Amino acid sequence: MACVSTVSYKFAINGEPSVSINAKRGLRQGDPISPLLFVLIMEYMHRVLQGLEDEPAFKFHPKCAKMSMLNVCFADDILLFSRADTNSIRLIMGKIREFSQTTGLHMSAAKSKIYFGGVNSACQEQLQLETGFQIGVMPFKYLGVPLDSKKLTVLNCQPLIEKMLCKFKHWNTRMLSYAGRLQLIKIAITSIANYWLHIFPLPKKILKHVESLCRSFLWTGQETVSNRAPISWDHICDPVAAGGLNITDLGVWNRASIGKMLWNLHTKKDRMWINWVHHFYMKNHDVMNFVPKPTASWIIKAMFKHRDTLCNSDAWNNFAGTGIYRTRMIYSELRGIRPDVPWKNMIRGNLESPRAVFSLWMACHCRLNTKDRILKIGVHTDGVCVFCGAMETCDHLFFDCAVTKVLWQQILFWLKLNHVPQEWSREVRWISEHTKGSSKSARILKMCIVEAVYHVWIQRNRKVFNGPKEENLLAQDILYRVKGRVAHNNKLKLFVDALG
Ligand SMILES: [Zn+2]
Repeated sequence: MACVSTVSYKFAINGEPSVSINAKRGLRQGDPISPLLFVLIMEYMHRVLQGLEDEPAFKFHPKCAKMSMLNVCFADDILLFSRADTNSIRLIMGKIREFSQTTGLHMSAAKSKIYFGGVNSACQEQLQLETGFQIGVMPFKYLGVPLDSKKLTVLNCQPLIEKMLCKFKHWNTRMLSYAGRLQLIKIAITSIANYWLHIFPLPKKILKHVESLCRSFLWTGQETVSNRAPISWDHICDPVAAGGLNITDLGVWNRASIGKMLWNLHTKKDRMWINWVHHFYMKNHDVMNFVPKPTASWIIKAMFKHRDTLCNSDAWNNFAGTGIYRTRMIYSELRGIRPDVPWKNMIRGNLESPRAVFSLWMACHCRLNTKDRILKIGVHTDGVCVFCGAMETCDHLFFDCAVTKVLWQQILFWLKLNHVPQEWSREVRWISEHTKGSSKSARILKMCIVEAVYHVWIQRNRKVFNGPKEENLLAQDILYRVKGRVAHNNKLKLFVDALG
């Protein structure tokens, strides 16, 4: 206990450190030895509880007897199981007291709860008096997710929605660009939703709600659900090569994650829950031929509902050779093959800033709010190009317009490319052809087109909303930005320097 009791604390009181206080038990939070010590102590607790197996009066919980399961413990949460009879509960409480006397660690009755299943209220009251615990009601939260014997409801998933909203509501998200919001959505999906998706088959309604929150946040920057979406969410979930933004499709990822559970059951991994499911549900059946009974747990039924699509996939058969389940492979197969877009080379592996690349991505989809599009949705505008007075369309703005054509020609001249710019759809084809491969010229050309589109769009918006700015500086700005982005890459820097 020396390493536990030699810690001392000081508290800042009115800016002054207090006198040292020596710890009698417990470690300083974050002490590297803490997890190790915790594991040792919990191992001791497990061994103390194992003593119950030799007590003739102790009865296991009916669903735990075959596996002699007494407790499940993770971090500082512990679940204890037994039959609801006075003798068993008394014996458990006796073991907890024994543990406390040895280690000095005491259980907090106020923070502990007792849960019953199929027990009459008289018996419940009696056992509550024995333990001093409050009677808990399902569902309760364990490791951040709700545990319930019934099917997960929309209400149970509210913590997931709240956590997602919390990410989007933060004050500093107000100033994020589209690219910044996209990054935040990816983080929120990876860190929060992914955790839930790996544990439960989530209700479709929840998946749709989370999806609509992400969609609204991407396009409006607000956490309130809006129908504004220039590009369908399904397309946004496509890989970058297929014209998407590679956001995870939650419904499909959930099914692919369920596949992992089935795979673990199939390979009989040495995990407690897998052993438990084999003991109580599957018995000697294989994953391929097991049919859950109507009385089986909802999660078991939901898992096996997807078995046929998952276990008959090509990816699943490939796993049989390697023995390793790859959720990403199943996910791709369930999503299906998405055809590549011709302009994938312009977006993929572009070294430009994500904010500028996002503008190019929008332009490639012809979804920038040019005046022809604004007119189509019934908003009054003059429809005129701010640079030359012709009708403003995406095709015109990049680079059929007299002003922007000269700009792009200047860049092409600098790149030593002999090409006369045309309207956007043709220009995209020409650039796509010239950005194939990873040659230095291809990499610089796709950086230049990103900056050109971004600068033209910004300049156009400035003219529409704030008034004019000198156009002849744009080419210098663009080249300055491109040179700045390759400053850390020696090979590209030498190439750019040679261009002048
Ligand atoms: Zn124009």
